Amino acid sequence: MRPKVVLLGAPGAGKGTQAELLAEKFGVPHISTGDLLREEVRQGTELGRQAKGYMDRGELVPDELMIAMIKGCLGSGGRGRDGFILDGFPRTVAQAEALAEIVKLDRVIDLRLPEEEVVRRLSARRVCPRCGKVYNLVLSPPKREGLCDECGSPLVQREDDRPEVIRRRYRVYMEESAPVAEFYRRRGLLREVDGARPVEEVHRAVLAAIEGG
Ligand code: AMP
Repeated sequence: MRPKVVLLGAPGAGKGTQAELLAEKFGVPHISTGDLLREEVRQGTELGRQAKGYMDRGELVPDELMIAMIKGCLGSGGRGRDGFILDGFPRTVAQAEALAEIVKLDRVIDLRLPEEEVVRRLSARRVCPRCGKVYNLVLSPPKREGLCDECGSPLVQREDDRPEVIRRRYRVYMEESAPVAEFYRRRGLLREVDGARPVEEVHRAVLAAIEGG
């Protein structure tokens, strides 16, 4: 099975962590639009330049930029053409409509997490700027304080994981992205999973929702 799956959920709900586990399990690429954008910013591309301000403020990057980017990944020559775990897209109903034109999804998972837990988790999130590994100072700390287990680089906090930006991202999510879940519910594709549990437990529930139909 090489499924085409979308993971929805607030920032910090665990989409990235769960997407990694699913990608490994099914042997399909994990496509994170947030990671792709951060790479564009790092490389100083035109797209990165256009996206950076929105990202730093915790706002959404305009739909037309995002849709063009995702078409490149999921279209006929893209790495997600034979299955994918998509994380961070779609975030608006317009994006969901555009995605429906490109691919037929097998399942959409909505990872549910209350706002206070979102703020708590994101405040404690640290990332390795070199290899991209993600840590949580409370839930999954590195073995040596402040250093990446994989490559030893000093860990950093994402610009948009500061408390005032976290609150804004959550508001944006509730206003613009929560309707996306409704879009998929109406099409019978949506399954809700409680994200406020240990990683392994959530993984099992997500697998059941994908494999069990
Ligand atoms: P993430 O790593 O998924 O939290 O994404 C980080 C930031 O990238 C978001 O706060 C947005 O500014 C931008 N971004 C990522 N995916 C999208 C998307 N599908 N639509 C609009 N903006 C996005």
